[in-house]
Amino acid sequence: TKKLKTDIEIAQESTLLPIFEIAQNIGLTEDDIELYGKYKGKISYEAIHNLNKFSDGKLILVTSINPTPAGEGKSTVTVGLGDALNQLNENAMIAMREPSLGPVMGMKGGATGGGNSQVLPMDEINLHFTGDIHSITTANNALAAIIDNHVHHGNELNIDPRRIVWKRALDMNDRALRNIVIGLGGAYQGVPREDGFDITVASEIMAILCLSNDLEDLKKRLGQIVVAYNYKKQPVTVKDLQVEGALTLLLKDALKPNLVQTIEHTPALIHGGPFANIAHGCNSIIATKTALKLADYVVTEAGFGADLGAEKFLNIKTRAAGLSPDAVVLVATIRALKMHGGLSKGNLQQENMEALKRGLDNLKKHMETLEAFNVSYVVAINRFVSDTEMEINVLNAWCEEEGVPVSLTNVWAEGGKGGLDLAQKVLKTIEENKKAFTPLYDLSDSLQLKIECIASQVYGASEVDFTVKAKKQLKEFEENGWGGLPVCMAKTQYSLSDDPGKLGRPKNFTITIRELKPKIGAGFIVAMTGEVMTMPGLPKQPAALNMDVDSSGKATGLF
Ligand code: ADP
Repeated sequence: TKKLKTDIEIAQESTLLPIFEIAQNIGLTEDDIELYGKYKGKISYEAIHNLNKFSDGKLILVTSINPTPAGEGKSTVTVGLGDALNQLNENAMIAMREPSLGPVMGMKGGATGGGNSQVLPMDEINLHFTGDIHSITTANNALAAIIDNHVHHGNELNIDPRRIVWKRALDMNDRALRNIVIGLGGAYQGVPREDGFDITVASEIMAILCLSNDLEDLKKRLGQIVVAYNYKKQPVTVKDLQVEGALTLLLKDALKPNLVQTIEHTPALIHGGPFANIAHGCNSIIATKTALKLADYVVTEAGFGADLGAEKFLNIKTRAAGLSPDAVVLVATIRALKMHGGLSKGNLQQENMEALKRGLDNLKKHMETLEAFNVSYVVAINRFVSDTEMEINVLNAWCEEEGVPVSLTNVWAEGGKGGLDLAQKVLKTIEENKKAFTPLYDLSDSLQLKIECIASQVYGASEVDFTVKAKKQLKEFEENGWGGLPVCMAKTQYSLSDDPGKLGRPKNFTITIRELKPKIGAGFIVAMTGEVMTMPGLPKQPAALNMDVDSSGKATGLF
């Protein structure tokens, strides 16, 4: 058989248009775009402000079933659907997250779509892009330095060094930094204490950047971050430290959305990149809203399965932004369904009807979740070369029996052309949509009730167990006046439960809430379940082992 081209090879063979031309095509002028090289640009605040007079386009959210470790092709389908809509002469844009270097170097390689449905320049977007993640890392660590400096110089705020909750951050998977001790070496080196690093995409500042509507909102939210507790156990905020101005300054360019293009020259805003398992998993509100002003249709993606990214998009992002989706695309792959049906990861390429049929349970649960939010959706089968006709027929027939629109999507192999049917079905769904989207819980519900609502309605759990620590925190958080915030669940992406080994549609399981974390600036409370960690590690054979660059600067191995 012919050797398939890798993502990076396809990307390098594509011809890009100068980003200025892409900007012109969506009605932006030279003044509206701040160039970062020839193929990347940021949209200025003034341009964004001037867009306010336009009405919003339609918003399409792409989500998926619980994925395999390789990903199920949400980004690929997001890009392909944007291209397909443009092929149908609609005016469409894409809004996506920026990849984190942790997974790029670790497991996943790039996160800019795949095959013929990619955003470009692929290597730059996957590496340092326009520096937004570096700015966030710097703001995060500037705050850490200011906290320790405050404690060192007399500690006027009476910060209890044992109760500093603000951690340092790095955009890499580095397990050795999860728990560290700092300030060793005597009185001149600061006050010794336990500390740790989170990956930058789990940092509250990443979430804040993504949930802020403008610079003022960003500053207000940064000021509200709880960094520590004092000796009376009262929260200490960034505002108490008086550095919300400095932190906003460090982020002033990072908050502007980045414009790039797909292989087919569809304009794409790539901005912000919180993980969906340990953070809220959606690109920035600014990018989504800007795209909605510039285009009639915006395709956006939320990370991992509908139990994580979509749940958070629908319960958290929509409220912070005042948006609601007009249609949802639920991506499924035959290989992941077979995995949910019990087939081992090494055998997913083999035809297996029984495993496929069993695995449909997982898809069914995510359909029920979307129905609980009262949104209209289309199932997209992201076609892999290994899928057989018989398997595709089984999946198609099942969807028809369920009465849901389904589209066999081949955007990975064919670009937009492979998504024309999906695009048509999405357009039809939007046109016929009479449903009124509703978040699953009311903000006025208690934190405990919100967590229980997500666990039972989205995960299908029979019970929620709170550890002694979590119970105590529930009470403290309500007393601190934080009970009205939404909840951001931290949970494994592989299972509907908090145990990554429970595939398919687990029943009669308990979700354990280990600990809560206040993210008051972001505007949510994180509930930690299972073993999920805010600083991942690299696998035994990290993707980095295959990466290289030649003497001309050409990258290889970013798959
Ligand atoms: P997700 O967004 O769901 O994590 P991605 O779109 O990033 O998934 O795709 C993950 C990887 O799988 C990428 O390397 C991509 O090239 C590859 N991929 C996606 N769809 C297909 C497909 N239909 N056939 C082969 N490879 C695919």
